[in-house]
This record gives sequence, C-alpha cells and structure tokens, in this order.
Amino acid sequence: MRPKTIVFDLDGTLVDSLPDISNSFRYGFAKLGLPVPDATAVRAEIGKPLEEMYASFAPAEQVAALCACYREHYPQHFTDQTRPYPGVLELLAQLRQAGFKTAVATTKQSFMATRLLTALGLVALIDHIQGTDGFPHKPAPDVILRALAAVGGDGLWMVGDTVSDIAAGKAAGLKTYAVSWGTHDAATLASAHPDVLATTLTPLLELTALSQK
Ligand SMILES: [Mg+2]
Repeated sequence: MRPKTIVFDLDGTLVDSLPDISNSFRYGFAKLGLPVPDATAVRAEIGKPLEEMYASFAPAEQVAALCACYREHYPQHFTDQTRPYPGVLELLAQLRQAGFKTAVATTKQSFMATRLLTALGLVALIDHIQGTDGFPHKPAPDVILRALAAVGGDGLWMVGDTVSDIAAGKAAGLKTYAVSWGTHDAATLASAHPDVLATTLTPLLELTALSQK
C-alpha cells in the first residue's frame, strides 16, 4: 500500500517567517528610493510569487530591480526572526511515527525552502521539500503533485494558510486544512471552503489518525 502523505505549505503554515519576508520585501523600496509599503499590506500578499507581490506595490519597470534586492537581502536574514510555530516539530514527528509521509509544497524556490527548513531543524522530519522552480504556482496543483510524486505516496491533506493553498489542494484531489495564524484570516480562508478551518494543528493529528482506521 502506498503511504498516505500530508502536504504542508511552508511560510505562514509551518514556520512564522512572515516578519523576515516582509522586512526583506520592504528593504528594496528603501534601497531604490521608492515609497516603502506598509507591513500589514505586504503581509496580506505573502505566499504569492515575488514578482506578483512587487507588481502590487511598484511600477512594472521597478519589479526586476526589487526582486534582485530581495534575493540579496533575504538569504542573509531568513532566520533573524523566523521560527517553527508551536507544536510543529512534535506534529511532524507524530505523523511520521504513525506511518504517514510528510511533504512541503511551497511557492519559494526549492533551494531556499531547503535552506530554511535545515536552519530551523525541520528537514529531518520532512520526506520531500518541493519548491516552485519555474512551473505554475499555487493555486495550480503542480507543486503538490510533484511533491507527492517525489514521496511516492497518495495525498491525504493539504495544509495551508492562504486561499491559494486550499484551491491547490482541492485541484490536486486532497482534503484541505486551513490554518488561521498565517497570511489570510479565518473569514478569507472560509471563502475558499476548506474541509477544516482550524486555530491549532491538534485536530489534524486526530483526523489523520482516524483515516487510518
Ligand atoms: Mg503560506
């Protein structure tokens, strides 16, 4: 029997990385002498590809230079404040002990996602880290399907903090579990009709254990 796999988004789902991303995102505006966007407005866009995020706040001709500033700044600051959310390490360990596979499916590039999860001590708890390396990003299901193919398992849950995660999970044929502590608030997440909308990861463990029976 193929192992059941739980697929997680990364930023805003497993790790509280939003302040470091926001700081690196805003750094380029100051460096280029552009008006720096409000941190709250930036936070609401995190999870989209960088180019799309910058296009929301800057003239099109500045987007490439801003992306270059981000890619200069973020690798030097990606663990300044970023930490796993409470309970994440324990949950991943418990899922694997119960015989499930775990995967990450993120809009970050694979190399940066792997660097982040390694630095935070999570890499040994994840069977495959799949970034979006030049193919359609969430809400397209591609990154989830590639993660499942790499793991060699059947997808059970997609866990994420944005409506794009939920749409991608549904498109990939998984059940969807929305978490309310990241980019999108509960009301926004509810508009995507996840199977579960939760304020902790505890129900995920219980629901996943039930699926074994
Ligand atoms: Mg996210």
